[in-house]
Amino acid sequence: MSGSRDPVALAGQLALEYLRRLPARHVGARATAEALRCELGGPLPDTGLDPAGVVEALAAGVDGGLVASAGPRYFGFVTGGALPAALAADWLASGWDQNGSLFVASPAAAIVEEIVARWVLELLGLPASTGVGLVTGCQMANFTCLAAARHAVLERAGWDVGRRGLRGAPPVDLYVGAEAHATLLAALRMLGFGAEEIISIETDEQGRMMAAALARAAEGRSGPAIVCAQAGNVDTGAFDPLDAIADLSAARGAWLHVDGAFGLWAAAAPARRSLIAGFERADSWATDAHKWLNVPYDSGLALVRDAAAQRAAMTSAAAYLERREGGGRDPLDWVPEASRRARGFALYAALRSLGRLGVADLVERCCRLASLMADVLRADPAVEILNDVTLNQVLVRVHPATVPGPSDEIDALTRDVVARVQRGGTCWVGGTTWHGMGAMRVSISNWSTTEEDVRRSAWAILEASRQARADLD
Ligand SMILES: *Cc1c(COP(=O)(O)O)cnc(C)c1O
Repeated sequence: MSGSRDPVALAGQLALEYLRRLPARHVGARATAEALRCELGGPLPDTGLDPAGVVEALAAGVDGGLVASAGPRYFGFVTGGALPAALAADWLASGWDQNGSLFVASPAAAIVEEIVARWVLELLGLPASTGVGLVTGCQMANFTCLAAARHAVLERAGWDVGRRGLRGAPPVDLYVGAEAHATLLAALRMLGFGAEEIISIETDEQGRMMAAALARAAEGRSGPAIVCAQAGNVDTGAFDPLDAIADLSAARGAWLHVDGAFGLWAAAAPARRSLIAGFERADSWATDAHKWLNVPYDSGLALVRDAAAQRAAMTSAAAYLERREGGGRDPLDWVPEASRRARGFALYAALRSLGRLGVADLVERCCRLASLMADVLRADPAVEILNDVTLNQVLVRVHPATVPGPSDEIDALTRDVVARVQRGGTCWVGGTTWHGMGAMRVSISNWSTTEEDVRRSAWAILEASRQARADLD
C-alpha cells in the first residue's frame, strides 16, 4: 500500500508536521530505552521493507524518544535550533548529496564554503587570510585548531611533527584553564598530549582563567607552548580575560587558542563585544554553528590565523584526488575529514537569512532573555542565581528555606527540582555540579524562544520548586 508513495515526500510531510507541533510538544523524551528498542529493534529481517513503509515505521517508532531540543523551551546544555532557511538548505544538501571534499567533486559546495568562510571572518572581525574549516562541531574544531598549533609551535622549534611524529619531539607546554571544556581535553588527548602533561591554570568564581595564575605558571619558561583559553564557560557563560591572556601568551611566545563554542558569537553582537575583548589577538578559534547560530547539526568552525599551519596539519594528498580544476578551494585541506556532507549550504542559508544585523540580534535577544529568566526566578527568595548573567547562561540553585541551610540539602533539592521540571515537560533544563554545588543550568540559545516562552518556563521552574519544597515538609 505504501509502496506507491514517495518516501522523500512522505518524510517532508512528517517533518513539517513535527515542526508544526514542535512548540507544543512535551519538551523532554518520554519513551524509555527499552520501549525504543522494542519499537525499532529485533533481528534484521531477510527481506527489505518498501521505502515509504520504512519512513513511516521509523517516524512512528522514534517519536517518544525525540527531544524537542529544536523548540523554543529547550534550555539544556547549549543547544540551538534550526533556522528555517538553514533547515531548508540542509534538506537540499541531503537531496543533492554532494561530496564536500574537493572542488572537483562539487564546485557548488566548495564555492559556497569559500563564501561562508569569508562571511564568518567578516562577522567576527578576523583577518580575511584566516584559515577556515567546516567541521562537525566544536570538539573537532578544537582538534583542528590544536593540530595546527602543534604543527606550528614545533616547527618553530625546528621539529617537523608531520614527518617525525611526537616521539623525541621537544616538549610542548600546554597551559589550560582549570574549567576548560571536556572536548578541549579530548582534542589534546587525540593529538598525543596526555592529561598529566597539561599545566592547569586556576580559575575564579565565575570559571574564568586567572591571568595572574597563568603569569606565575609561565614565568621563566621557554620553548614550544600553547595556551588554551575559553570564551564562554559552558555553565556561567563567563569569558577568560583574553586581552591579559594574549599579552602573557605573546610574552611566553605561545600559540593562543580560544574555545568559543558559543561565546565567540558575542563578537558579532556590538553590545556584547566588550565581553570578548582581545579575542582577535589569538592564533586560533574554535566555534559551533549548531549552537548559537542555529544551524542544524552538525556544524562547527575551526579558524586559524596561520592558514599555512592549518593546511600543513590537515591536508591529504593522493594522485587520484585531483586538485583545483577551475581554481576553487579544496575543503579537505582545512579539516580532518576527506569525504563529507556539504555542510556549507546550511551555514550559507543561516547567514544569508539573518544578515549581519540578524546575527547580532539573535545573540543580543538570547542574552536579554537569559537576564529576564534570572530576574523572574530571582523574585522567589528561595532561588539563588549563582552566576553573573552577562551572556545566555543562567545557573540556578534552589534553597529549602530562605535562610541558608546545609549544602547537601540544597544540592538534593536543586536536583529534585531539575528532575521535576524535566518530567513536567513545559521546558527542559539540565543539572550540573558547579564548584561543588548541585545546580540547574538554563541556556538560552534558540532563535525561536520568546519572552512568553521564558516567562512560562520560569513559572514552571518556580512551581516545581514550590512543590519540591512542600514535599520536604
Ligand atoms: C559545546 C561546547 C564544546 C563542544 O562542542 P560540540 O559541538 O559538542 O563538539 C566545546 N567547548 C565549549 C565551551 C562548549 O560549550
